Amino acid sequence: MPPLDMDDISRYTALPDDARVLLERPERELRVTMSLRLDERLVQTDVCVVYFNTARGPAKGGIRFWPTVTMPHVIELAEKMVWKTALVGIPFGGGKSGIALDPTKFSRMQKTAVLKEFVHVLRPELLNGMYIPAPDMGTNSADMAVIFGETHLPECVTGKPPRVGGLPGRLEATGRGLATCVSAAAKEFLKQDLEGLTVAIQGFGNVGSWCGHFLSQRGARVVAVSDISGAVTARGGLDVHKLAEWTARGKPLDDFPDYDKLTNAELLAMNVDILVPAATENVLTGDSASAVSARMVVEGANGPTTAEADAILGDKGIPVIPDILANSGGVIASYIEWRKAKSGSLTSRDETFDTVDELVLSALARVTDFTSRRKVTPRLAARVLAVEEVVHAMADRGWI
Ligand code: NAD
Repeated sequence: MPPLDMDDISRYTALPDDARVLLERPERELRVTMSLRLDERLVQTDVCVVYFNTARGPAKGGIRFWPTVTMPHVIELAEKMVWKTALVGIPFGGGKSGIALDPTKFSRMQKTAVLKEFVHVLRPELLNGMYIPAPDMGTNSADMAVIFGETHLPECVTGKPPRVGGLPGRLEATGRGLATCVSAAAKEFLKQDLEGLTVAIQGFGNVGSWCGHFLSQRGARVVAVSDISGAVTARGGLDVHKLAEWTARGKPLDDFPDYDKLTNAELLAMNVDILVPAATENVLTGDSASAVSARMVVEGANGPTTAEADAILGDKGIPVIPDILANSGGVIASYIEWRKAKSGSLTSRDETFDTVDELVLSALARVTDFTSRRKVTPRLAARVLAVEEVVHAMADRGWI
């Protein structure tokens, strides 16, 4: 995430020193040594949990099950959740947790045992509702079903499979919100309807493939998509559905027979209307950003743009719609799932999409209004609006 320090923010909104102290470091960091025996193997590792700020509600954020997990990175990810939840106006704070293990080194049964131990060591935080996990890198909906099974409380965790208390539409929600954001941002920043605009999407996993699906459905021309193996392209537009079926069978895009091939670097430099990085962090660096020729970038991934790249894109006059807005559909759906669990009501896929669209569009309208009134980038506008929300909440709570 390009750093926007509190000095940048305080030029556009009142930021009392007492508030800065609370926003510049996490409210709570918890590190637990987890140790369990799996047959012949002893698994010992750190579990990190961070509540960055809970002024607006419980700490919401996924469980990263990844060998490189460290406390500083979990803190960074938890902070992003604070701004994301505040910007779209859902009553959650920001948190995150991490288990420093490689998910590929565990069988399904072994991973279940690790997750049960995770619940065991964090039982108080999970049962008191102060930390509400969801899937993140290395965890999936089946893992959330395990956590639900251990707590017996459906509101303790989101991202569960629909048949285990999950939400219809949760799987597609991030891509859905992203497509809605792309479409509305095209109107605002490119002054054009989506119909016929060309889009290149880096990353064809959950977020990228569903975003491609909804964009194609709404008349955009998705001309290139990539996964880690490489990119496929067709100037007349790709059949996103066919490609999704291909990758769902575990096949790399690079092996897809029908389309021309590109590298990921070539995809990022394509002459398209809209570039959607939806793969991973730090893919737009100084070098790759200099080569970008898209008219607009919409961040599907978390933190795809480095600070240097952000400045380069700014100098080139390319608007960048920030991750905390563009990929907020997932956390919005998590909120709907939590609300459904609390109330016991049923929610349809269409209702999920309607709420995701409504909240993304409302946040985008506030961001574009601030961007044009104050002549700042959408990234700075989004962050100022989010910080304002959190500062007001801290004042309401009597924290400052
Ligand atoms: P995923 O694992 O389903 O898919 C990732 C895709 O990116 C795959 O196609 C993979 O091959 C590709 N990829 C990975 N590294 C790459 C690289 N270096 N170059 C090119 N392609 C690469 O992940 P996802 O759930 O789609 O998440 C993608 C991004 O969106 C992540 O940054 C994630 O944090 C963010 N995000 C996801 C959600 C969600 O609900 N899934 C919500 C908010 C943000």
